Amino acid sequence: MSIFDDAIHRLDAAASLVEISPETLQRLRHPKAVLRVAIPVRRDDGTLSIFDGYRVHHNDIRGPMKGGIRFHPSVNLAEVQALAFWMTCKCAVADIPYGGAKGGVSVDAKSLSPMELERLSRGFIDRLGTFIGPDTDIPAPDLYTNSRIMGWMMDEYSLLHGQHTPAVITGKPIPLGGSLGRDDATGRGAFHCIQRLAARENWTPADTTVAVQGFGNGGQAVAKLLHAAGYRIVAVSDSRGGVHRPEGFDIASLIHIKEGSGDLRAVYCHGSVCESVDAHRITNEALLELDVDVLIPAAIENVITTQNADRIRARTVVEIANGPVAADADATLTQNGITILPDILANAGGVIVSYFEWVQNRAGLYWTLDEVHRRLEERMTRAFDGVLDLMNKHACDGRTAAYLLALTRIGEAVEAQGTRAYFANGQHPHP
Ligand code: NAD
Repeated sequence: MSIFDDAIHRLDAAASLVEISPETLQRLRHPKAVLRVAIPVRRDDGTLSIFDGYRVHHNDIRGPMKGGIRFHPSVNLAEVQALAFWMTCKCAVADIPYGGAKGGVSVDAKSLSPMELERLSRGFIDRLGTFIGPDTDIPAPDLYTNSRIMGWMMDEYSLLHGQHTPAVITGKPIPLGGSLGRDDATGRGAFHCIQRLAARENWTPADTTVAVQGFGNGGQAVAKLLHAAGYRIVAVSDSRGGVHRPEGFDIASLIHIKEGSGDLRAVYCHGSVCESVDAHRITNEALLELDVDVLIPAAIENVITTQNADRIRARTVVEIANGPVAADADATLTQNGITILPDILANAGGVIVSYFEWVQNRAGLYWTLDEVHRRLEERMTRAFDGVLDLMNKHACDGRTAAYLLALTRIGEAVEAQGTRAYFANGQHPHP
């Protein structure tokens, strides 16, 4: 089963709980449009490389489509389609007026020089042409893309279209029209979900242990906020492996080390801040299986599968990564009593503040950091409570409840346009 089929399969459990128009499901099974491009990039040594790029429009019934662009060697069409589908659902759960899209380039971004990276970023936008736009499809950062890349992409789009168009892309640097608070929005949104759950379940932060897989934008931000709130972050990892310390880490030091060396393994180096950190090495696989209260996969998809689901000992899994749990591993986690805060809820903070950035760009009026934080917390809380209400009402798991919320909202838009119930048999001849 492709990762897209796997993603779509998740709708079935939700659709079985309430009456959803079959036309809603039918529409969600088919991405609206798919673009595949070849991007030529002149390398610093004068040679030419061609990279495959994709942009998928999944569904726009609730508004212009929104979704990140990732640079990763494993990017392929099925993956981008799945990610676009998740965006449709996530925007509905967050109740923002967007549909879902996603893009990606199959490339090892770390192997490119900064100038090659800029050429690739601009080249991708040249190829996308009118497929994106502030009223149709608005990209944002994702895996191995960042605010600088968004700035280049916005500039390229503006050059192509002959007008300054900051609202075409979000996650830009602040001086180029970015929003305050976008940098840590994904981690902050997940933090609000955890805090909400902690309040309901009476957790004591100092007694709550947390492991974070993936120490990038999302992983670092949530670790920093949880640490500041008193939680014990006992393990973190990046693509090269992780570190484990049962007493908990000082997250600021870890970020300092990673920024200095680009590698968490530098915790073992000799000298400077490294000496003050006493930790064991741990593999990414072992980190997932640690006996912790909260496990936060914040790297890539499909890290929990039927191969390891039975060995997951965390009490709660908070999905900052998109699709870290394969569909057929869900049941095992649920049967083992593990609460899952699903990706389409837990990582929605990023797209919520992206939406705020787009609103500010279009209004030409910028908000304070406090205002962004306040509005983000309000929306995350509303989304979390909406999912929790459905969990209680239908006695179902968090993922099913989140899809139910998304399906209900998308279904309302589909019904508003008219389904068979409206058009068939001349039963409703007049609007
Ligand atoms: P990032 O590039 O900033 O960080 C990714 C981190 O994961 C890095 O530390 C990298 O070393 C690590 N990593 C990569 N491959 C790994 C592997 N095989 N095992 C363990 N670690 C690995 O990316 P990000 O923006 O933090 O995104 C991480 C995840 O969160 C992705 O799935 C992304 O789709 C999702 N997400 C991000 C945002 C956002 O706003 N940044 C929003 C929603 C969802």
